[in-house]
Amino acid sequence: MKSLSLEGKTAVITGATRGIGRTIAVEFLKAGCDIGVNYNRTPADDLVELAEQLGRRCYAVPADVSKVEDCERLVSTTAAELGKIDILVNNAGITRDTLLMRMDNEAWDSVIETNMRSVFACSRAAVKLMMRARSGVIVNITSVSGIMGNAGQCNYSASKAGIIGFTKSLAREVSSRNIRVVAVAPGFVTTEMTSVLPDAVRENALKVIPLGRFGQTEDIAHAVLFLASPLAGYITGEVLRVDGGMAM
Ligand code: NAP
Repeated sequence: MKSLSLEGKTAVITGATRGIGRTIAVEFLKAGCDIGVNYNRTPADDLVELAEQLGRRCYAVPADVSKVEDCERLVSTTAAELGKIDILVNNAGITRDTLLMRMDNEAWDSVIETNMRSVFACSRAAVKLMMRARSGVIVNITSVSGIMGNAGQCNYSASKAGIIGFTKSLAREVSSRNIRVVAVAPGFVTTEMTSVLPDAVRENALKVIPLGRFGQTEDIAHAVLFLASPLAGYITGEVLRVDGGMAM
């Protein structure tokens, strides 16, 4: 029987020490998965402890995923430590919101490098291992901003739209090797990323969410768990919006 269980699987999750990535890591551990996580500024000690309590393994790697060499080291050391990589979740992301007229080169480059180049570099490293194993799943975290656009987010929307194109192209490249590539597009989720937004922006966002509430990190993690699981074995190249209906 196929199920949501990830028993016997090993995953790498980027940006897993807080927010959406952390909840994905917790749900994966609870589903029986061993995980490799990168930490940049936020330590991963609590995830390592939780893994021990659940009888799972969590290998924490210091890595800045905006750097290609760090992405490659994250994937290779995790594979060496945990034995293999079945699942890659490209979650790490940042915002540097401002109108295009005021956007400096650094705000553009840092968002593109952290959000999009990391997906390229981690996926390239993981796909090499998955091709050899003739199986694997890559789940990329994009955003409704990459679908609808959002004033003040030209850099972020471009990076997230780029991830959608990347997802579909890679899915076509590797399907014959039994590797699935999918994306999840969250709407407005309560995390540190959105807590810095002014109240007026948050109130306006709430008005355009048909389900009438902001997303919780569990809403996104459950969709990622499903897509990474054997239950989603016939789904590839798909972008699943998890947004309370915001972008329909
Ligand atoms: P968050 O709370 O700000 O967490 C971001 C995570 O990414 C942190 O763990 C952070 O690690 C990590 N990270 C950032 N830059 C990194 C780098 N250079 N190297 C390694 N790790 C790095 O954000 P979130 O809301 O959970 O967002 C997670 C993903 O969902 C992002 O891709 C975001 O674009 C996407 N998303 C979020 C929303 C939302 O409403 N929250 C909506 C749509 C899409 P440190 O703590 O070490 O910096």
